[in-house]
Amino acid sequence: MAGNWKSNLNHQEAVVLVQKLAWTLQDKKHDFARAEVAVIPPFTDLRSVQTLIDGDRLKITYGAQDVSVYDGGAYTGDISAGMLAKLGCTYVIVGHSERREYHGEDDATVAVKTQKTIAAGMTPIVCVGEGLEVRQAGEQVDHTLAQVDGALTGLTPEQVAGLVIAYEPVWAIGTGEVATPADAQEVCSAIRKRLVETAAPEAASATRILYGGSVKATNIASIMAQPDVDGTLVGGASLKADEFAAIGRYY
Ligand code: PEP
Repeated sequence: MAGNWKSNLNHQEAVVLVQKLAWTLQDKKHDFARAEVAVIPPFTDLRSVQTLIDGDRLKITYGAQDVSVYDGGAYTGDISAGMLAKLGCTYVIVGHSERREYHGEDDATVAVKTQKTIAAGMTPIVCVGEGLEVRQAGEQVDHTLAQVDGALTGLTPEQVAGLVIAYEPVWAIGTGEVATPADAQEVCSAIRKRLVETAAPEAASATRILYGGSVKATNIASIMAQPDVDGTLVGGASLKADEFAAIGRYY
């Protein structure tokens, strides 16, 4: 389970949330052994989160919400993959629908970011998913698979096996409109079949496929029960330690 904080929480608030989360996860009444818990704060929080997690040896991983297509140099405002790796990031979200929508990122850009992340030794969380019009036209599978093909361009089967792919229908992100478990399964299973065709069966079974879109403690159980959903990418509900930890109880 990965918590995408988006553009929320300064570095002091980040420390408080990670401390609360760690406490909640240590609660012996609940078994979190099956869930890998990752937080994905804004860039400005990463150093503080790293210091806390490393210092207290917390069983929480962390990552970044985006990465530059450049390795460094005269690119004002860009954060390179090497910088994120140096900060101990395990994950980098690439191609989130908010980056695609507000920053014009296309599949070619997502492919480069995916490659840069892997080359720096981190794991991309590649986000794919259709908007409302595509869903209403019944084209969600074709649309999402085209994004998968675009993002995975040039990767070896081993690299595909190490990926995390997050299926996030755009109409379900931050809207409270969660996809039905059958909607999630339909597209996640199509993604896995596509990985069998383009990479290899071993890669397809190893690749972790997440669902994202208004996931909460109250709707997680039926989503996680789907055979091709390995986990969840959580936005709003990851900003509250109790709610986020509660999601992990259903893994
Ligand atoms: C997200 O930002 O990836 C997301 C799924 O957000 P939310 O859970 O708030 O819909």
